[in-house]
Amino acid sequence: MLKTTMVDIAAGLKIVREKISAAAARRTSECASFEPRLVAASKTHSVPIVIEAYEAGQRHFGENYVAELLEKGHHPDILEKCKDIRWHFIGHLQSNKVNKVLGVPNLYLIETVHSKKLATCLDNAWPKFRKTDDSRVNVMVQINTSGEDEKNGCEPKEASDLVKHVLENCKNLKFDGLMTIGMYGYDVSKGPNPDFVSLKNCRENICKELNLDPKTVELSMGMSSDFEHAIELGSSNVRVGSSIFGYRPRKGE
Ligand SMILES: *Cc1c(COP(=O)(O)O)cnc(C)c1O
Repeated sequence: MLKTTMVDIAAGLKIVREKISAAAARRTSECASFEPRLVAASKTHSVPIVIEAYEAGQRHFGENYVAELLEKGHHPDILEKCKDIRWHFIGHLQSNKVNKVLGVPNLYLIETVHSKKLATCLDNAWPKFRKTDDSRVNVMVQINTSGEDEKNGCEPKEASDLVKHVLENCKNLKFDGLMTIGMYGYDVSKGPNPDFVSLKNCRENICKELNLDPKTVELSMGMSSDFEHAIELGSSNVRVGSSIFGYRPRKGE
């Protein structure tokens, strides 16, 4: 926490937003169906830091640990000062934590639905939490495009079936798009990131199979090291942490 207080968050946000706009302007029309949204990945950063970013104009925040989302989402200072905050859950979600996540005030989007079981569980639980009868939970389906064991998400070949399940059987969920984390440290000078290309291909296949318009299906891909590249390839939702908040202590440091 000590180190983050020396970071100028407003300046970091401004630079990231400028880079997002510049990258968006470089897109071909085929990749430009959405204005890219910046999600500030605030994991490990404290409530005052989140408030500082909010006061600098940031609205979408992403958390990937349930306990941290709960602590920040229910925090009285955040409830008082960040009335229009929009929380994204971007971590691994276990079915037994679904009630906790759905109960977070200002939850906006769960980006990491990886199985039919989890989708059904969210669908069944939502009526206990919704404020109006017709409100739905925004969800994305997470795909493990890199095939790494330690990454979560469904297999690319299972994705269409999972999206179909959400669309047909989960009336309380609103399907927004597809999300991937991908392999870390890819060298962009080697050409388009294969994880991003794979996520786009998944969208194409899913849209063909399920007769959906690709212009309505978002892609969440890109982090600090590659968000501009991701936007050029059609990302509509970038999750950026360290480029805004600076150094992030790892567990145990
Ligand atoms: C932490 C995190 C990010 C942001 O990572 P940075 O490299 O700090 O930008 C993006 N997505 C997920 C799922 C994360 O957990």
